Amino acid sequence: MSQSQMVLNYINGQSVPAQSGSTFDKAEPATGVVRWQVASARAEDVDQAVQAAQAAFKGAWSALSGAARGRLIHRLADLLEARASAFAELLAREQGRPASDLMMMDLPMCVDTLRYFAGWADKLEGRTIPTGGFMGTPTLNYTRREPVGVVALIVPWNAPLMIAIWKLAPALAAGCTVVIKTSEDAPVAVGALAALLDEAGLPPGVVNIVHGMGPEAGASLVAHPLVRKISFTGSTQVGRLIGQAAASSFKRVTLELGGKAPQIVFADADLDQAVLGLAMGLFVNQGQVCAAGSRLLVQRSILRDVEDRLAACARDIRLVGHEAEPAPPWVQMGALISPRHRDRVQEHIDRALAEGARCIAGGEGALPSGGYYLRPTLFTDVTPDMHLAREEVFGPVGAILPFDTEEEAIALANDCVYGLSASVWTRDLATAHRVSAQLEVGAVAVNCWSPLDARLPWGGVKDSGVGKDLSRLALDAYLEEKTVTVAL
Ligand code: NAD
Repeated sequence: MSQSQMVLNYINGQSVPAQSGSTFDKAEPATGVVRWQVASARAEDVDQAVQAAQAAFKGAWSALSGAARGRLIHRLADLLEARASAFAELLAREQGRPASDLMMMDLPMCVDTLRYFAGWADKLEGRTIPTGGFMGTPTLNYTRREPVGVVALIVPWNAPLMIAIWKLAPALAAGCTVVIKTSEDAPVAVGALAALLDEAGLPPGVVNIVHGMGPEAGASLVAHPLVRKISFTGSTQVGRLIGQAAASSFKRVTLELGGKAPQIVFADADLDQAVLGLAMGLFVNQGQVCAAGSRLLVQRSILRDVEDRLAACARDIRLVGHEAEPAPPWVQMGALISPRHRDRVQEHIDRALAEGARCIAGGEGALPSGGYYLRPTLFTDVTPDMHLAREEVFGPVGAILPFDTEEEAIALANDCVYGLSASVWTRDLATAHRVSAQLEVGAVAVNCWSPLDARLPWGGVKDSGVGKDLSRLALDAYLEEKTVTVAL
């Protein structure tokens, strides 16, 4: 790729520039070179996209049976599977992430998620509910499950295609039409879905994709009166704004927000297995993961051992570009998404040092030139009041905190505004179940790190959000249940 390529909005089945002609640059994080010019949607483009989605919702899409919708979603899955390596390469370029990680994790998950929800499209059954009738007259009472309407899907940059599909697949299965708003830091691969949507034969307007700035394109989408539901993944700060904006018009919301996942390591854990899992949970995708296991709570008797092994693991990680040879995710790491984000992560590192945490890995050696790299970094002697123990870094930086008892571990884990996910490492089944039950999070992984699966609910509590992606619960969030009572 030598010159920059255009990435256009996709509205009513057409790839179009922004009406204003406005664009923004998107660079490759591994090299810093601008490769893409992206259409920057404003309110007028968003309105056009929502109107197209509304027309499709009232027209072509609602005319299709659930089975027909399911076949189209299956076709989309087949097309994506056939082009998986091309999409992995595109994602790798726009995210600065090794393509092999994407081929191992994101792409299979995208295809599986489409297939899982395709299977639900013809199974949206209501219920019959017996009652005592109405004023002496017997009644037949039943419910219908109906799509909520036009849905706004607002996605982040850290797993842009996967998260777009987590939302798109259940929305389409439910019979909704959508406007996807991509992240300004990762619009390219989601934009490339447009060609697949055409090829799969989705009617124009069923899926629209707009690119642009959050406070402009994103906010206009949230405010649009024809949008009935917003499914958002991103920061807690923006999630709060969206929740407030949606409340005045009673739009439904699903908010998948930030995290500060604890990984609790008990002294009886299998440390060989645990250390690889801890490193992966901490450094995969450069730590730019909502579920990143960045709070390492380690039982004091194994503290030094875990510190040494994890620091060695961090020091061994190679920094690579998007064209890296395939390797497991705890062996290599790519670049951060942007210079602004890398600087933000560096500020967290500087503050941890200033607050007295001890750095046991990170900072050593030259970084690859051009791109936005940081060494995997580990701090110990972190206390619960330090910023590093409390704030989401969203980068390859871990904080190790010791604990003595199970009660202390649970209290430390729950002493956090976030509640997305957690890991527990122990050989004792009773400990695993007892601790899992007491953690204030949406998902617990025992002796593994955050396995995502289309069949398992994914979503947080506390400041990590509201509602679920994935599983049958995600499907429910795109449906209304209407009650019909018929006097007999
Ligand atoms: P972000 O909140 O900055 O942006 C997310 C999206 O919101 C982008 O598309 C952005 O353009 C848009 N946006 C920004 N301001 C807006 C506004 N005022 N109105 C409407 N839309 C607006 O988040 P990010 O930096 O892209 O992603 C990182 C965050 O996402 C982290 O906090 C991470 O934990 C979270 N995340 C959560 C999950 C989860 O499943 N819980 C998954 C991935 C990422």
